[in-house]
Amino acid sequence: MVRPVRTVSTRDVGARKISPARSSRHVLHHRCILKTFEELALITPIKKALHEEQYVTPTPIQAQTIPAALSGRDILGSAQTGTGKTAAFALPILNRLGKRSKKSMPHFPQVLILAPTRELAIQIGDSLETYGRHLRLRHTLIYGGVNQFRQVRALKKGVHIVVATPGRLLDLMNQGHLELSRLEVFVLDEADRMLDMGFLPDLKRIIRELPEERQSMFFSATFPGKILQLSEELLNDPISVRLAPAQPTVEAIEQQLFHVTSGQKKSLLAKMLRDPNVGQAVVFTKTKRGATNLANFLQKANISADEIHGNKTQNARQRTLDGFRGGKFQVLVATDVAARGIDVDGITHVFNLDLPIEPEAYVHRIGRTGRAGETGIAVSFCGPEERGLLRAIERQIGQKIPLAAGQEEPQRSRRDDESEPRGERRERRGGNSGGPRNQRPGRKPRPQRRDESGAPKSQEKRNAPAKSESRDAKPSHGKFKARRRPKNGAGRRPSRAAAPA
Ligand code: AMP
Repeated sequence: MVRPVRTVSTRDVGARKISPARSSRHVLHHRCILKTFEELALITPIKKALHEEQYVTPTPIQAQTIPAALSGRDILGSAQTGTGKTAAFALPILNRLGKRSKKSMPHFPQVLILAPTRELAIQIGDSLETYGRHLRLRHTLIYGGVNQFRQVRALKKGVHIVVATPGRLLDLMNQGHLELSRLEVFVLDEADRMLDMGFLPDLKRIIRELPEERQSMFFSATFPGKILQLSEELLNDPISVRLAPAQPTVEAIEQQLFHVTSGQKKSLLAKMLRDPNVGQAVVFTKTKRGATNLANFLQKANISADEIHGNKTQNARQRTLDGFRGGKFQVLVATDVAARGIDVDGITHVFNLDLPIEPEAYVHRIGRTGRAGETGIAVSFCGPEERGLLRAIERQIGQKIPLAAGQEEPQRSRRDDESEPRGERRERRGGNSGGPRNQRPGRKPRPQRRDESGAPKSQEKRNAPAKSESRDAKPSHGKFKARRRPKNGAGRRPSRAAAPA
C-alpha cells in the first residue's frame, strides 16, 4: 500500500531523537512510509525492547530498509552513523534468528557483521544487546589489539552472530577457529571507511569464503567507484536506499572558521574551551603525537582532557570513551581513525585543531556533535598552509564554512595551492599536474595505504617511529617476533565475548 507522505516530528522519534529536519527531507524521497515500529512484522521480544528504548517512529533509513530486509532482500544503503542505520540491519537479523531460535553451532556463525574499527564493532554489539535483550541469542565481537583467547572460546562454544573487524577475523579464519560456509546473513558496514583504511584485499578474501546462498546488506556513507564495484559483486538484486549522505549532518551543525597561524591554535583553543557555553568537546588533530601533545597541554592548562587514537590499546580506548561518556572529563582529543567510533550524545562542540587531509573526514568529524537531534557547533582552525585543504573540504560539503565573528578572509597565496590534495588540485586545474612523476597521464594514482591522519603510510613512519596503527591491530607476524600464547584468561577484563545478544 502506498501511504501518504508525512513528515516526522522530533517527538515522534522518542527520547533519543533523530533530527526532524533530517527525517523530513528523506521522507519525501520514498514512497512507502512506515509510521511506527508497530506496523512492522517484528516479533514481540524485539517490539518490547524498542518500546523500552522509546523508539516509536523508524528513521528514514529504517523505514526504507527494514521491510525489504525482513523479506530477505539484499540491501544497498547509503547512510552514515547517526541516521539509525545500525537498527536498520540489526532488527531484521535479530528477527530472523529470534523467530526460529535455532541453536548456535560451534565455529559456524549464522550472521557476520563486518565493521572497519573496533569502536564501531563495539557499538554494533551494544545495539544487538539492546534490541535483542529479550531473545536468547549469542553474539561475539572479534577485533585485534586484544588477546584472541576469549574470542576463540566464544566461537568454540558457538555464537549466532559475529561482529568483526576484517584483520582479526581473517586471522581466526586462517587458524581454523571459524568458517563462513553456513552463513545466512552478511553485513558490510561503513564500506568506504574500510577502503580508506586499506582493508579491500582482506575484504575480498573474506567475501570469497561466503556461501552463494545468503542475504547481504551493504552500507556506505559514500560510493566511490571501487565501493560500487564491490557492492555489485556482493549483492543480488538489492533494494537500493540512498539518503543524501553528507549535507543533512552538516546542516544540523553551526560551523565556524578561524584563520590562524599554527602557533596560535592551542592557546585559542584553550581560551574557547574555557567559555561556559562549551560543554563536552572533541578536538581533532592530524597525528597521534599531536593528540598526545595537545592532551598534555590542556591538562597543564587545567582543562580536563584525555586522548584516543590508534597507539592506544583497545582497552585504553574503550576506558577513555566510557570516561568521556560518563562526563569524567571535558575534552576528548582524537585522530580521524577514532572519529566514527565516538557515539556520544551531548557533545556541544567539535574543534578541528588541524584540518583533515581527506575532505570526507570533515563530515565525519563534525558529525560527532549535533547528534540525536541536538544542535552542535563545529569550529575549525585553518593555518596558512591548510588553505588548500579548506577549499577541498568546502567543495566536498558544497558550501563555504562561515568565518567566525570578527574574522576576515585572508589573502590568497601560492602556499594555498600547495596544501590542496593532489587529485583535487588537478581536477580544479583540469590538468594532470601535481601527480607522481612516474604516473602516466590520465592514469589513476595507485591507492596508497594511509595512516589515520590520511597521510601516506611512509610519511607516518617518518613522523612517528613508535607503534603504528595496524589497521585493527593485527598481531605481528614478523620473523623474529614469537607469538605469545595465553596460558589462561585469568586476570583479564571480562570480554564481551559470547554476551547474550
Ligand atoms: P546509529 O546511526 O545506528 O548510530 O544511531 C544513532 C542514534 O539514534 C543511536 O543513539 C540510536 O539509539 C538512535 N536511534 C536509532 N533509531 C532510532 C529511532 N527509530 N528512534 C529514536 N532513536 C533512534
